[in-house]
Amino acid sequence: MQAVENFIAAEPAIAELLAARPAFKMHAQDGLCFEDVPLNAIADAHGTPVWVYGAGSIRARYAALVQAFADAGLAPHIHYAVKANDHLAILSLLRGLGAGADVVSLGEFSRAQKTGVLPSNIVFSGVGKSRAEMAAALTAGIGQINVESAEELRVLSEIATGLGQTARIVLRVNPDVDAGTHAKITTGRADNKFGIAAHEIPALYAHAKNLPGIEPVGLALHIGSQILSPAPYAAAYGKAAALVRTLRAAGQQVSVLDLGGGLGIGYQDEPGISLAAFANAVRQQVGDLDVTLLLEPGRYLVGPAGLLLASVTLEKQAGTKRFVVLDAAMNDLLRPALYDSYHGMLPVSAVEFVSPVSPAEVVGPVCETGDTFATGRLLPGFAEGSRIALLDAGAYGAVMSSPYNARPRAASVLVDGGKFDLITPRQKLEDLWADEILPNAIK
Ligand SMILES: *Cc1c(COP(=O)(O)O)cnc(C)c1O
Repeated sequence: MQAVENFIAAEPAIAELLAARPAFKMHAQDGLCFEDVPLNAIADAHGTPVWVYGAGSIRARYAALVQAFADAGLAPHIHYAVKANDHLAILSLLRGLGAGADVVSLGEFSRAQKTGVLPSNIVFSGVGKSRAEMAAALTAGIGQINVESAEELRVLSEIATGLGQTARIVLRVNPDVDAGTHAKITTGRADNKFGIAAHEIPALYAHAKNLPGIEPVGLALHIGSQILSPAPYAAAYGKAAALVRTLRAAGQQVSVLDLGGGLGIGYQDEPGISLAAFANAVRQQVGDLDVTLLLEPGRYLVGPAGLLLASVTLEKQAGTKRFVVLDAAMNDLLRPALYDSYHGMLPVSAVEFVSPVSPAEVVGPVCETGDTFATGRLLPGFAEGSRIALLDAGAYGAVMSSPYNARPRAASVLVDGGKFDLITPRQKLEDLWADEILPNAIK
């Protein structure tokens, strides 16, 4: 198998970015279309910056994941990781496809419930669940709590007992595997804050069995995000399988293995993880364990199904550099500033799409040097008002946005069946301060 973890991505030309994304087409008159809807029509109707999500892309990605596992003879329960994109429209769409939810806060738990996801189909993860979150989740009838430490287990037992409830829990194992991803999104190494060291699991599992209000049913892992190779998964799942056998040999019941998420997508011209190779790694490592398998994909399902549509405010020359200043900024899409991440950019105009390119710094108007979407990106010359699609922004995009620099939150739109619906209006200026209170003394 090709060692994709060593893949060094070259800067793809804009024609290559387009060719690799079948949901996008360039039309001579209409310009760039996404799922058959001209992006110009969306920008004309709702302005920019605007998030655009494609229902067809999400459905297709969900179906491909289910199919890859079916081909491997497996049928894991899919619990969509809400933190990737928590819009009610996205959650409803995924719930309709049969997905449960993986949540990391009471807010996400409530959002998932709001769209009709049954509490019994929700998994609660995270290293720092508060007592209030545990109590609310238990009261609502949460399906599974992924416990990340002995300390948390003790508190959960106390709360469940107080409520007269039994918490169905799995222990999150830290398999000490390097997922080969960005340091800020790797989670499965021994010195990360996540999970419980493998050697501590057998004793803690036995302890959990004896704790009041606690029913241990299995193990969970989540080794990181944007993982492009099945190799770290195979290593981690192999360790999990060994632990399941150890637990069973000690007389414990183990019926659930939560495989986590982290499936990587192609942002540049690197291939996304092979679903077939991933599903086969799962089958090889844990296929014979006779456990219910859970998957918690976030980015894989929604990342390529979304884009941020922006307009060019102006181009300026500073020293030797050409700056393209957009009306979108780091407060909208934080990933480039936070993780140096790459987002492909496509001009919306068919004429600009084929115009000669030169290197550009693509920046937003926020007063931070970090407000940079790309450096040295080969792009055509833009006029004021030219539109640009920032690709693969459906995951960890809008959820991380903020009103920094008092910039109202962008609108969002869902494209479905050749039509589009506004799903979040652009925030109004007065809404920026609507919740703020002036003490009498300084009025
Ligand atoms: C973030 C997270 C996920 C989803 O990660 P993706 O990389 O978006 O698939 C799944 N499970 C847990 C516990 C997480 O923290």
